[in-house]
Amino acid sequence: MRVYNFSAGPAVLPLEVLEKAQKELVCYQDSGMSVMEMSHRSKVYEAIIAETEAKLRKIMGIPDNYSVLFLQGGASMQFAMIPLNLFRNSGKADYIDSGMFASKALKEAKKFGEVNVVASSKPDNYSCIPSYSKDQFTKDADYFYICANNTIFGTKFNTFPDTGDVPLVADMSSCILSEKIDVSKFGLIFAGAQKNLGPAGVTLVIIRNDLLGFAKENVPTMLDYKVMVENDSMYNTPPTYGIYMLKLMFEWIESKGGVDGIEKMNREKAAVLYDFLDQSTLFKGTAAKEDRSLMNVTFVTGDEDLDAKFVKEATAAGFVNLKGHRSVGGMRASIYNAMPTEGIKALVEFMKKFESEN
Ligand SMILES: *Cc1c(COP(=O)(O)O)cnc(C)c1O
Repeated sequence: MRVYNFSAGPAVLPLEVLEKAQKELVCYQDSGMSVMEMSHRSKVYEAIIAETEAKLRKIMGIPDNYSVLFLQGGASMQFAMIPLNLFRNSGKADYIDSGMFASKALKEAKKFGEVNVVASSKPDNYSCIPSYSKDQFTKDADYFYICANNTIFGTKFNTFPDTGDVPLVADMSSCILSEKIDVSKFGLIFAGAQKNLGPAGVTLVIIRNDLLGFAKENVPTMLDYKVMVENDSMYNTPPTYGIYMLKLMFEWIESKGGVDGIEKMNREKAAVLYDFLDQSTLFKGTAAKEDRSLMNVTFVTGDEDLDAKFVKEATAAGFVNLKGHRSVGGMRASIYNAMPTEGIKALVEFMKKFESEN
């Protein structure tokens, strides 16, 4: 029996997508083999990867002057690839420290250039997006970095910083395709697949073409975006099956009315949970209201033992992976695109029952 899986990642996938993959697992169309068994240079696979990219371009509205890459190494490898490729003039970059992944990214960038931390919400245990003002921005920065949705702390940027001519770089690992965004506002967007896109093993990168070609001589070939773009993500063997799964996810998003349809669902889903938390006498949200994430909902009872009891009873009732990250404690419900509204309604019913009993 399938449970309601609130894992932060790898995370729930739509049942329809899994069933489609199951149907095609052993024999893909008339190829006589599984997608896993195909040469990445075959006509049939070339069609799969081309279609995956075309579908993403359509649902996300990616302009023609951007390249789409399917890489490996996870979101964490982008923490290094970004400075290795985008430090190109001043060797300076601005970072907003809004959580653990932003902090890891800026630490990595410091190995390669000068990092200016514009603002940090670390003193608030990252429970909000820190406030910042434009006069703190480095005028000649090579890029400006944010983590759009902070998976661990349940916060997100509702408005993106206006960085003018400085390319805005965003880690969208835990919010990609969850709501409409204007890609043309960004120099680079990246996302590890295992939250909102598919299985772990693929990292999506969307990069504006004028940012290609600045990796220094000593940058490893595999870490040079330009090489990956020139080879259509196939300089070496790409994560072929994972990319195919992304294609199924993009088709699923299309079937739900595109990103507009998904965003509408996500707003409704998050509201069910946040509305309950706001009136609950037992549970309390941990993120600042104005910065609340649509994807990761963090909450506590205020009593660690009661938190543990809740997680245990919830698990037994079929609501799994609700334990919060060790740095926040309490609970976290990750409600990515694939989490159905019924899952959240059922969770709220369970929370009500727990509240009345405790
Ligand atoms: C999960 C996550 C990462 C790390 O992803 P890996 O693929 O494990 O490297 C980075 N950033 C954000 C926002 C994440 O949610």
